[in-house]
Amino acid sequence: MQYMQVPSQVEYERATSVEHALELLSRPETRVVAGGHSLIPMMKLRLAQPEVLVDINGLTELAFITLDGGQLRIGAMARHADLLDSAVAAGLFPIFADAERVVADPIVRLWGTVGGSLCQADPSEDLSAAFAAARAIAVIRGRDGNRTVPVREFHLGPYETVIGPGELLAEVRVPVRPGTGSAYQKVARRVGDWSIAAAGAVLHLQGTPERPVIKAAGLGLTAVGAEHFVAAEAEEFLRNRAPDEESFTRAGAIAAEHCHPVADQRGPQDYKRHLVAELTTRALRLAAGRADVAGRAGSRV
Ligand SMILES: Cc1cc2nc3c(=O)[nH]c(=O)nc-3n(C[C@H](O)[C@H](O)[C@H](O)COP(=O)(O)OP(=O)(O)OC[C@H]3O[C@@H](n4cnc5c(N)ncnc54)[C@H](O)[C@@H]3O)c2cc1C
Repeated sequence: MQYMQVPSQVEYERATSVEHALELLSRPETRVVAGGHSLIPMMKLRLAQPEVLVDINGLTELAFITLDGGQLRIGAMARHADLLDSAVAAGLFPIFADAERVVADPIVRLWGTVGGSLCQADPSEDLSAAFAAARAIAVIRGRDGNRTVPVREFHLGPYETVIGPGELLAEVRVPVRPGTGSAYQKVARRVGDWSIAAAGAVLHLQGTPERPVIKAAGLGLTAVGAEHFVAAEAEEFLRNRAPDEESFTRAGAIAAEHCHPVADQRGPQDYKRHLVAELTTRALRLAAGRADVAGRAGSRV
């Protein structure tokens, strides 16, 4: 016998403004729906059973991508395709276009949102690692106003974030610094699939073009059990070192040593660790090549 998978009964409300959404979210057992690419399948499987769905697709005021006061600001309702196509984002942080190019397929990218990706908190979500590498800040809106949380503290665990009842992720802010280069590298079983493993790197270089030095490194890892999506030990190793092959290879090995992949249908642990080492090294190499030590952030794009 075949069974249809259908969600349980749910009330539907369409928010017309952020204030309206917050008002609707003050009711118990409500859940925001953005692109719906993750939430609706979870509802069909009854892994999520909200009583009220608050549709925020009408909140075009949260669909921006802009450079403002030294920060790249990305609204929660920016679609994956918007971030992929954004010239300002690509110019400053090519890591996001690298990641978006390999998120799912064009149909998912047209509808899925940046906010939904972060709030879903799936350990395989590519943007979580990319924003963690970039040390982005999440802006969370509640009825009492905004609060900010570093993306590195945003995820409490798989499918769990710091967003409380009645709150909404409004935007993500990424601090822009000169001398920054970034990149994201992913291996999946086939085009459009989730990562077997992926690594993102954001390098902040100083010094001279002849003798650059790494002032800060951000390293994000996807789908390999890295705490808060971050390869903290490898970041620490890179600080004040030369951006060269030796540093990058060693950082890759450290990242592989300290993550916690699990064996599953995408591969055994040792294969995933091997990928982490290789992809971290490649992302660092690419990020360094994109940094302009003499001046602007992400200038090689
Ligand atoms: C076939 C397929 C393949 C995919 N492959 C990949 C992949 O390779 N890499 C990848 O990273 N992702 C992948 N995804 C996931 C995709 O990125 C989704 O877009 C994303 O997971 C969720 O975004 P959404 O806007 O659809 O969120 P929704 O499904 O609407 O919401 C997801 C969760 O976030 C909450 N939420 C949404 N917006 C907000 C907000 N502003 N404030 C508070 N809570 C909010 C919802 O309540 C829900 O709990 C894939 C999805 C599909 C269907």
